[in-house]
Amino acid sequence: MSKIFKRTKILATIGPATSSEEKVNDLIMAGVNGCRLNFSHGDSETREKQIAWVRKAAKNKGRSVAMIQDLQGPKIRLGLVKNNHYDIKEGDEIILDANITEHKSGNVLPVQYNLAPKVKVGEPIYMFDGKVRTHVTEIVSETAIKVVAENDGFVMNNKGLNLPDTDFGGDILTPKDLADIAWGASRDFDYVALSFIQCADDIHNLREILRQHDSTAKIIAKIETKKAVESDKNLEEIVKASDAIMVARGDMAVEAGAEIVPIVQRKLVKMCREHAKICIVATQTMGSMVDNPEPTRAEVSDVANAVIQGADVVMLSDETANGKYPLETVKAMKKVILYAQNNSEMQPIPHDPESENRDYDAISAAAARLAEGLKADAIICQSASGATARAMAAQRPNLPIITVTSNERVANQLALAYANSAFVRPYSVNFGIELAKELKESGYLQTSERRKNLKVVLVSGDRDVAGTDTIKVRSI
Ligand code: ATP
Ligand code: MG
Ligand code: MG
Repeated sequence: MSKIFKRTKILATIGPATSSEEKVNDLIMAGVNGCRLNFSHGDSETREKQIAWVRKAAKNKGRSVAMIQDLQGPKIRLGLVKNNHYDIKEGDEIILDANITEHKSGNVLPVQYNLAPKVKVGEPIYMFDGKVRTHVTEIVSETAIKVVAENDGFVMNNKGLNLPDTDFGGDILTPKDLADIAWGASRDFDYVALSFIQCADDIHNLREILRQHDSTAKIIAKIETKKAVESDKNLEEIVKASDAIMVARGDMAVEAGAEIVPIVQRKLVKMCREHAKICIVATQTMGSMVDNPEPTRAEVSDVANAVIQGADVVMLSDETANGKYPLETVKAMKKVILYAQNNSEMQPIPHDPESENRDYDAISAAAARLAEGLKADAIICQSASGATARAMAAQRPNLPIITVTSNERVANQLALAYANSAFVRPYSVNFGIELAKELKESGYLQTSERRKNLKVVLVSGDRDVAGTDTIKVRSI
């Protein structure tokens, strides 16, 4: 029986619960393919260490791991709350004041953004991922507003606020984001994720700023605002402008209604496959495991369904950042992914005859069907930019895609692509075949019992003629 590769990848948020060399190493050994640093929290000194731990663990394992810088974007947060806990009862009046940073006593809470000039009386403000719903009753001063609570609950330090109906207008990158981009550009990040984008222009702007910093990071668009999901046309433009999409279900549910989330998720997975972009399904995938050693039935079903739909990646947030059982969560998630992938059929994507990459898509589609028909052991991709490997992944083949590239950044980025294992080797015309031989010898690639040799389908392009133009079948 040949070895079984996990085809849907795991992205884990690194936070206080996983902030040590050993814990990061454990996560990666257990099957984490990418690590996310949330720039809404933490400090640069810790982040520097976390990046180094991830790189070291990846090296230990001999596998590429993607590092993600997740920018806060225009998210408004509370400041520090006395004893990190403030109880709220329905009907309570709360003052949100941008002029203070710390709550000492009474009902005046600090907020990290001046809402007074932006909000209007009657507009909703949701706190702590929508757990506390309020609306504005008064603009109290130039820096403070009054809200009234519509339900019981509590808030903690730095919890986020959502204002789905407030018009902030203009550019979504804050001064903090710009500073974080500059910091990140000289560090080892493979992706930059941008929160609360509204349209494709937000992505174009970020790409220009990254270019100015000579960054080679790719862009993940976090889909979570009402505006972004308003129309399929807008969603598709965002998908086309980005390199990857994150279905950021937490804030999306608060901003646009929880009931729309599963439908938007299906649409995005499909659009990403059609455009050969990476699709990440995020938030509460294993949420109850923050406090419990086992997932709920609903969570198992949620992760399995993301796999069956064809998501490239399922993401963990609080579970690994803040939870009691980060390692158990990753292990449980991997088990669900493997069972779902091995016991469900992936639907082929209908080939789009209008596609701008017609030859490209047609060749990868043909290679995937050929490899499956021949019961090959792997598809081997020779890829300089990663585009060939991503086109291959978009076909969601039923077997591993082994990519060889001379570019380390590209290999790390492909750690998030469906079924992809990328290896860095110096370029040569036959480096795909060489790698297949090497992986056979090391036992990493094994053939099925029925034959002695490894059978691979090799996809490559002539370096001087851009693009993927060759399919070969080899016995190794
Ligand atoms: P986002 O909307 O971007 O997901 P979030 O506040 O929900 O922001 P997550 O990344 O989902 O944050 O992580 C969940 C929780 O884990 C955070 O609310 C925070 O309490 C904690 N956390 C995550 N990263 C860190 C960190 N580096 N330092 C401290 N706490 C963290
Ligand atoms: Mg969010
Ligand atoms: Mg979150």
